[in-house]
Amino acid sequence: MQGMMEECRIPGQNGSEDAVFRPGKLICIGRNYAKHAAELGNTVPTVPMIFLKPASSLIPSGGLIEIPEASNDVHHEVELVCLIGQAGKNIPEDEALEYVAGYAVGLDMTARDIQQRAKEKGHPWSVAKGFDTFAPLGRFVAASSIEDAQELSIQLRINGSLRQDGHTSDMIFPLRHLIAYTSTIFTLMPGDLLFTGTPEGVGPVASGDRLEAQVEGFPVLTVDVH
Ligand code: ZN
Repeated sequence: MQGMMEECRIPGQNGSEDAVFRPGKLICIGRNYAKHAAELGNTVPTVPMIFLKPASSLIPSGGLIEIPEASNDVHHEVELVCLIGQAGKNIPEDEALEYVAGYAVGLDMTARDIQQRAKEKGHPWSVAKGFDTFAPLGRFVAASSIEDAQELSIQLRINGSLRQDGHTSDMIFPLRHLIAYTSTIFTLMPGDLLFTGTPEGVGPVASGDRLEAQVEGFPVLTVDVH
């Protein structure tokens, strides 16, 4: 329970109060950057590949990632995250970005060894993706302050060395499509979080590492590995 994230806060614009959301569903997209799909030996999907993480896996910047005993190979995946601000179902693509209240940088931590065994057996990824502390999330910026979230650099450093260096323009499925498509399956609710996939360069973390995740213009997300 320690360090779990209870709220998502969007800074108020032009003197207005912050908007506060209770985290809802964590809707995650797999293989949304072609070079990342290739580095894990996967083909590029023709429709978005979706999985869920529990809200109990969220931790804020400054938190600690716990490596579970069940895994010897926990990977970082740096991702742009959208916070949904209003309920929607079957949202048209050309209205999709109006449902985003804010953006942050997040980490989709993944027990790669558990995930690999699940893939081989055709089992779900819930365990590999769902451990406590496996969804570090940075502070939000208001959507209205971002000119184009599809034109941002995204990076991950470990102990100061650059490990992932991507650009949101390289997404296979852009944000507007991800929101429209996922809303055909789930009713999107205020507080839901959309993890939009990771660029190439994923790899393992070790005890004592400091991870710094950044999307251009956003507050840096800093977490340490316990
Ligand atoms: Zn991911």
